[in-house]
Amino acid sequence: MNKFTDITCYIHNVSPIKKSGTTKYFNYVIQTKSDVRNGVCFAVDKRETLDSLAQQHSPVKIHKYSLSNKFGRKDIVINKNTLITPTTLDFKYQDLDDVTSIASLSQVTAGQLVKIKGHVAHLSPTRTVLLDAGPVKKQEAFINDPSGYIKLVLWGSHADSVSEGSTHLFDKVRVKLAHQEKYLNTPKNEDECKISSVANFTESLQPVENISTVKDLTGKILGVTNLNKYHCCCSCNKNVTIKGNLAFCNNCSMTMKLNCCKLQCTLKLYIQETSNPHNRVRVSVYNDVFSKVLGICNLLAASTDEEIIENILDLELVKVSYDAQSNKVIDIDQVKI
Ligand SMILES: [Zn+2]
Repeated sequence: MNKFTDITCYIHNVSPIKKSGTTKYFNYVIQTKSDVRNGVCFAVDKRETLDSLAQQHSPVKIHKYSLSNKFGRKDIVINKNTLITPTTLDFKYQDLDDVTSIASLSQVTAGQLVKIKGHVAHLSPTRTVLLDAGPVKKQEAFINDPSGYIKLVLWGSHADSVSEGSTHLFDKVRVKLAHQEKYLNTPKNEDECKISSVANFTESLQPVENISTVKDLTGKILGVTNLNKYHCCCSCNKNVTIKGNLAFCNNCSMTMKLNCCKLQCTLKLYIQETSNPHNRVRVSVYNDVFSKVLGICNLLAASTDEEIIENILDLELVKVSYDAQSNKVIDIDQVKI
């Protein structure tokens, strides 16, 4: 039994999968001959099919759907029994805007790519960070729109590609989650993301409240604490138990050669600011920055703890950029006296 007449339409703007409590769903828009309507689908395994029908501008017939009055409008509901079949239509596919608003990102599950229009409200200086693949440029921005604001990290060739005060369309940036907070990242495959200049918003924008807390400090390293080096599983990055030349991962039960493990290193520096000797901070150095410290000291990862500590204390004057909330060092350089 079908309660409603079949809908013949084009599908547009299939959203990333969203979560409300434990319910997963995604949204889309349908374009019928006479109007454009919103839709929701709780059968998330249908997302790929709908998305490819949308991308290919394929005309379809929707059979066995239901309607939802939840938002005071009649949204089309596709569930697992709904049938979507190809059809022919006597009207053309029209381009609709498919830009996600910043506020609606709160419902988008992490890991997905979205298209966002944003005004660059704040831009941090570009830094070079050392990743496994080598040094890469990284720049943090805060973007806002009339609905909200969010942090955006621009990597590699996307760093230095926008300026403060300008408005851009960020076509395909990844939604990430860290410390319960969402932010956006340009994807690893840089070509996937297109950033283009667009007209400014005409509506008033949501002010950015929680701007990045990166601080720069030049000072003397008074002490080193908590030097810790450990090996991680080459598959899952969890701690391993070492027996001779072999390492065993308790997490994924994999045994591997010790030299296949990734070496993770951390330490804390106690630094006194040169221009304000009363200001002493404890900052944490992690893997990528740790490698940079070893490089500055002309040391290898295999160096002993004593060698590492001695050489770090010999650096004396350094310039560090660190996050004032987490005290995590983002970048460090030796200052030659
Ligand atoms: Zn493992």
